Amino acid sequence: MSLIGRRVTVLGAGVAGLAVARALAMRGAAVTVLEQADAIREVGAGLQVSPNGAAVLRTLGLGEALEAASMRASGVVLRDGLDGAQVLRMDLARLRPGQGWHFVHRADLIALLERGAREAGVELRLLQKVEAVDLAGERPVAVTAQGGRVEADLMIGADGLHSPARIALNGKVAPFFTHQVAWRAVVPGDTSDPAEAEVHMGPGKHLVSYPLRGGQWRNIVAVEERRRWVEEGWSLRDDPMELRLAFAGFSPRVRGWLERVEDVWLWGLFRHPVAKVWHRCMPLGSLAILGDAAHPTLPFLAQGANMALEDAWSLAAALAGHDGDAAALAAWEAGRKPRCARIVEAANANARNYHLSGAKRAIGHGVLRLGGMVAPGAALKRFDWLYGHDVTA
Ligand SMILES: Cc1cc2nc3c(=O)[nH]c(=O)nc-3n(C[C@H](O)[C@H](O)[C@H](O)COP(=O)(O)OP(=O)(O)OC[C@H]3O[C@@H](n4cnc5c(N)ncnc54)[C@H](O)[C@@H]3O)c2cc1C
Repeated sequence: MSLIGRRVTVLGAGVAGLAVARALAMRGAAVTVLEQADAIREVGAGLQVSPNGAAVLRTLGLGEALEAASMRASGVVLRDGLDGAQVLRMDLARLRPGQGWHFVHRADLIALLERGAREAGVELRLLQKVEAVDLAGERPVAVTAQGGRVEADLMIGADGLHSPARIALNGKVAPFFTHQVAWRAVVPGDTSDPAEAEVHMGPGKHLVSYPLRGGQWRNIVAVEERRRWVEEGWSLRDDPMELRLAFAGFSPRVRGWLERVEDVWLWGLFRHPVAKVWHRCMPLGSLAILGDAAHPTLPFLAQGANMALEDAWSLAAALAGHDGDAAALAAWEAGRKPRCARIVEAANANARNYHLSGAKRAIGHGVLRLGGMVAPGAALKRFDWLYGHDVTA
């Protein structure tokens, strides 16, 4: 179905919202994005864009912008957190030709997506907090905090973890605390460091770090198992000393990074089920959700933004490739759900595997080391279903 002139309202100007807005506008749709913030911006932190996400950015015409804004990663290295010894290295040179793995500052990714959306003619409306999505009438209606009612023929909820669009489709489902908390920080880096993501694994905790912006900065995410509840949000500051104390038993390399931490944020990791319902077709309009609104994931596989990019491209392609929203959205949801559920489950499993202790840890690390020696490409090959998948193909 032609999307030329089709009026679409997207809720949220994050990765999913900006990407789907550009994808639809490139096919001729008239897209408006409603964003709650007073500016399009991101928190100071890094993101890994794996080949499956990079393929979407390239097809959206943003490949060069991604290359300019990011660092090409050369490897992902699992290390014993306590002594720093290498357990396994995934050599990203083994990716198929043309496939790239990128480290990018979130603000840089959002900036390139925003530019891409505006260049394609998307209208971005700021300070538009959506309180609820009303599905009682013939079309979906976004009810804003100012009391406005924005009616749409096609509404796309890209409004993240606490999505009102998801609630409209699924009701409220309480997430559960995983008894893990995470700190995030960005510290001054060393430009001579290799372009590798390092995962330092210790009993009950792990720390992931990689360079950003040519190595001038270093991104850190540190996860610890904990009984105590911590809120799920990105704005709670913590004392850097708490982070240093939690990882005091880790290798000098990790402790050296943590010495440089001046500002640190802490949040609780919650598990949300993949939404049961991703769309609804009404007499005169439709609502669909994507990205974190549909399938929030724990950060242990670095796939939330990559899935959001895949969703964005495939949703626009489905709408253009079917007659009518009902067929398009049903096919899209049926195609995406099993893949996203599998990725979310794989991220959950990583949390357990990184935090082994005692004999299980010795055996687990031993198996990984041996596997890396006997079949150095096997670890990456095992994830071919994930990184090798190109939704734009
Ligand atoms: C520590 C950590 C590390 C991560 N690392 C990676 C990684 O390396 N690679 C990766 O792929 N993913 C990673 N992720 C996941 C990734 O950040 C998210 O999955 C991704 O940002 C989801 O994009 P989104 O557009 O769906 O949601 P969001 O990025 O949350 O965007 C939602 C947008 O909607 C707006 N909004 C929300 N509510 C409303 C409302 N009511 N009204 C109007 N606007 C609204 C928000 O302001 C925001 O702009 C990580 C996550 C964490 C926590």
